[in-house]
Amino acid sequence: MIPKKKIDETVAGYDKRKLAIATLCSHSALQIFHGAKQEGFKTIGIITKQKLAMYDAFPLAKPDEFIFVSDYHEAADALDSLADKNAIFIPHGSLIEYVGKQIENLRAPIFGNRRVLFWEANRQKMFQWMKKAGLNVPGSTIPEKIKGPHIVKFPGAKGGRGYLIVSSPKEFKEKTNNVIKAGLVTKQDVENALIQEYLTGVRFYPHYFYSPLTKYGLRVGEGHVEMLSIDRRIETNVEEIYRSHAAGIKTEPSFAVAGNMPVILRESLLVDVLDMGKRIVEASIDLFGGIPGPFCIETICDEDFKFSAFEISARIVAGTNLYPNGSPYTPYLFKEEMSTGRRIAREIKTAMLMGKLDKVVY
Ligand code: AMP
Repeated sequence: MIPKKKIDETVAGYDKRKLAIATLCSHSALQIFHGAKQEGFKTIGIITKQKLAMYDAFPLAKPDEFIFVSDYHEAADALDSLADKNAIFIPHGSLIEYVGKQIENLRAPIFGNRRVLFWEANRQKMFQWMKKAGLNVPGSTIPEKIKGPHIVKFPGAKGGRGYLIVSSPKEFKEKTNNVIKAGLVTKQDVENALIQEYLTGVRFYPHYFYSPLTKYGLRVGEGHVEMLSIDRRIETNVEEIYRSHAAGIKTEPSFAVAGNMPVILRESLLVDVLDMGKRIVEASIDLFGGIPGPFCIETICDEDFKFSAFEISARIVAGTNLYPNGSPYTPYLFKEEMSTGRRIAREIKTAMLMGKLDKVVY
């Protein structure tokens, strides 16, 4: 991994009056550019030609400059060139997917802590983090000991596609054999699958932002954590599976995200949601030096209002795209409309004015 010192030297050499915000044109890029423009930054989009029309269609979220690539899997050089353009790169869900391990050695400063992207990508590490934070997490087991409903998550199969629901060792064997035969997974994938207790309840995905720069509201570490918004994912086909069942069609549930819906929580539950965010930041500081910027905890709340967490997204999540003008919670934190994209740009601006850009990039 490129040493933090190198990245600090790069930003120290930046012309602060010409600081730019850059990202891959995908996932939550419209929101990131829109927010960066609201805060007065120059914006740079790394893009394939095919996607250009989409950004032309939304002029207020269209980046000022484009860097063209033929494929996002080959974006590493373009990302590196940002180090010569006074730019800070904002990571989002598509980054790990497209650029993968090469992120470790990118010369360009990345907003947040790039170490965290690898804690997020490794399920064992993620659970270590959530447990250290004292969050309730679903139990996991081995194939021979499956008793009751469990969800089988194959390595790399993030986003819920191809998960299996099994209730016994026999069912595990049958269903995994089927997906191996169908060529959907390998034997090795099955051996390395996470077999997780199936949680019953309602899902909430709160979006947080940790600032190590300022103390305001809920204090944590050197700074504070904000809860900016909450969404609920629309996942196909589990979401409306009762319709198929009512029609007599027996379908296996799938959990691939197709969209997002806004959520407002019963107010008394906010205490627990805020506490989870605070603990995740505290644990991140101990484990890998903190998590400046946005993150999301994927939770399920049961009938006793007990929250369990089954995943962390350690960067801006697509659910925040619901709130380009702020959420029902942001007016209690900011006098102006505040999206997560704008909050990122605001943090970079604050860091720049305080002479502390090194605190928010790696
Ligand atoms: P993940 O890839 O872990 O984000 O999971 C994708 C989706 O699968 C989630 O949004 C949930 O709808 C569902 N899911 C994941 N883990 C569990 C679990 N332990 N119990 C019930 N549903 C789950």
